[in-house]
Amino acid sequence: MTELGLPEDIQACLFDLDGVVTRTAVVHAAAWKEMFDAFLREREGAHFRPFGDSDYDEYVDGRPRADGVRTFLASRGIDLPDGTADDPPDAPTVHGLGNRKNDLVLERIRTDGVEAYDGTLRYIADVRAKGLRTAIVSSSANCRDVLRAIDAEDLFDVRIDGVVAAERKLPGKPRPDTFLTAARDLGVEAARCAVFEDALAGMDAGRSGHFGYVVGVDRVGQTDALYAHGADVVVKDLAELGGTQ
Ligand SMILES: [Mg+2]
Repeated sequence: MTELGLPEDIQACLFDLDGVVTRTAVVHAAAWKEMFDAFLREREGAHFRPFGDSDYDEYVDGRPRADGVRTFLASRGIDLPDGTADDPPDAPTVHGLGNRKNDLVLERIRTDGVEAYDGTLRYIADVRAKGLRTAIVSSSANCRDVLRAIDAEDLFDVRIDGVVAAERKLPGKPRPDTFLTAARDLGVEAARCAVFEDALAGMDAGRSGHFGYVVGVDRVGQTDALYAHGADVVVKDLAELGGTQ
C-alpha cells in the first residue's frame, strides 16, 4: 500500500460528490423524506407509512433522481407515469416528484450553503501532488454548482455528473457506466482506479465495474452494509487513509 492508503498500482481516483466531498448527503436525505412523506400522507391517508432511513439507503441514495423515485415507489407497489423532465413540481409523475425534491434541495442549499469535508479536500490535494489523476462522478445534476460553491472545480480532471450522463446517455449508479466513462476519459483502466463512495448503489457500481480498489465512506454508521456491497475498506473520513494530513 502507498502512503495514500491505496494499492501501489492505482493511478486515478474517482470521487462521488454528496457525502464524500460535501456534506450534502444529509440535505438530500432530508429533502427526499419531506417530499415522499407529503406524497404518501396524501395518498395513503390513515395507512400512511413514512419514508425511513433504510428506504433512503436501499432505494434512493446515489441513484439518478428519477431512478430514485421509481425504485422507492416500486418498493411500495406504486406505479406512476414517468412524465417528462420539465414536469412542474406538483405533477403526479416520476419527474414531477423528482423536481419537487430538487426544489427542496436547492432551497436548503441556498439557505444553508454547502460545506466541504476538509479531510477529503486535503486527501485530494495529496492525491494530485503524487501525480494521480482525479474525477468527480456524481448522479447529481447540481454537481457543478456545488463544486463552484466550495471552489473545488479545479480539483478534478474529469467531471461525470447527472448533466453529462444525460447528454452521453449513461445509465446511473448502481450501474458502473458513469465510473467507467470517467476512467476512460482519464485514460486509466478501471483496474488501476480507486472509487470513493458513501452510497450502497455506489459500492455496487464499484464492484460490478471491477475497479482496482473501492473505498466506502461511512458518515452515518452503515459500515457493515458498505462491506456487504463490496467495499475493500471502509473509513469514516478520508484522513484515515493517510496522506500528509
Ligand atoms: Mg453520495
